[in-house]
Amino acid sequence: MKQKTAIISGITGQDGAYLAQLLLRDNFKVIGLTRGYHNDNLNGLFYLGIKDKVTLMTCDLLDISQVIKILQQTKPTHFYNLAAQSSVSLSFQQPIGTFQFNTLSVFNLLEAIKMVDKSIRFYQASSSEMYGKVNNLPITENSVLHPLSPYAISKAAAHFTCIHYRESYQLHVSCGVLFNHESYLRQNTFFVKKVIQESIKISKGLIDVLKVGNIDIKRDFGYAPKYTEAMYLILQQEYPSDYLICSGQTISLREIIYYIFDKLNISHELCQIDDNLYRPAEIENIYGNNAKAKQELGWVYDLDIYQTLDLLLKEELENAI
Ligand code: NDP
Repeated sequence: MKQKTAIISGITGQDGAYLAQLLLRDNFKVIGLTRGYHNDNLNGLFYLGIKDKVTLMTCDLLDISQVIKILQQTKPTHFYNLAAQSSVSLSFQQPIGTFQFNTLSVFNLLEAIKMVDKSIRFYQASSSEMYGKVNNLPITENSVLHPLSPYAISKAAAHFTCIHYRESYQLHVSCGVLFNHESYLRQNTFFVKKVIQESIKISKGLIDVLKVGNIDIKRDFGYAPKYTEAMYLILQQEYPSDYLICSGQTISLREIIYYIFDKLNISHELCQIDDNLYRPAEIENIYGNNAKAKQELGWVYDLDIYQTLDLLLKEELENAI
């Protein structure tokens, strides 16, 4: 039987590494696209011990001629599009660059797939941030989008681009609408990773305080390696569709900080609010309903948020210098 080949754009990110590991276990040939910087961040691939098992290629996703060439050369059966400027905070500082990359890259990829091989199964990393100003909870696949950041606007535009190519050209395009998910491989500027890393530093006397913005907002957090299983399952389906991938539980950022502080015997007073870290707009509370993913994909997710935090803290402590 012909070996299945998956391309992962954004393989240097958190999800890219875990997804590559999963696909390799299922005997996929895995090709990872990077920007081709001299200092491409391959830490995640090294950490999981798979750096030499994936083929890395450079590709500017904003250049459709490069995308077409890669598709023609490698003949993928599956394409996971994880590459994106993924930070909500950064998107307020770099709105145009965020929108430009996160939307045009998706148009280029889908247009190239339409031209080269319409049978390629395509996964798009959509985001719960698209829902933004929430009226009814929990969020379902039918909730109305009302993005509240340039990042969310870009992801909503990319999401509709995917729906357009699926409905108008019958491409096998699916979107996983993922809520926040964390792991040891999360970039250290993201909230949970930052809280855990800096709390460990406080407990060792390396820094004095944890500075944070609005910590009374609530989010639905999950464990990244389990969420990448859902991505894999989504492209195993005969028919393309969109799925919410979430834990279904919500927790305030304050509760997360205090839980980690308590685990490390740190006084709550060492958490300091810094007005400079507030965002121009913020989702107050959001959580999703993952029933469709569980029923149709057979996705199993049974971790609660505190179990997830325990896993993250344990792995961070094991790797802390
Ligand atoms: P990361 O930020 O860890 O990884 C993002 C990846 O995209 C990296 O490989 C990065 O490459 C690449 N990338 C960023 N900007 C560009 C660019 N301009 N050109 C080419 N490549 C670029 O994200 P995650 O792994 O956490 O997330 C994967 C996807 O899922 C992203 O699209 C994200 O927006 C989306 N998502 C994530 C959620 C989460 O909670 N983690 C929730 C919902 C959606 P480089 O290493 O070179 O910077």
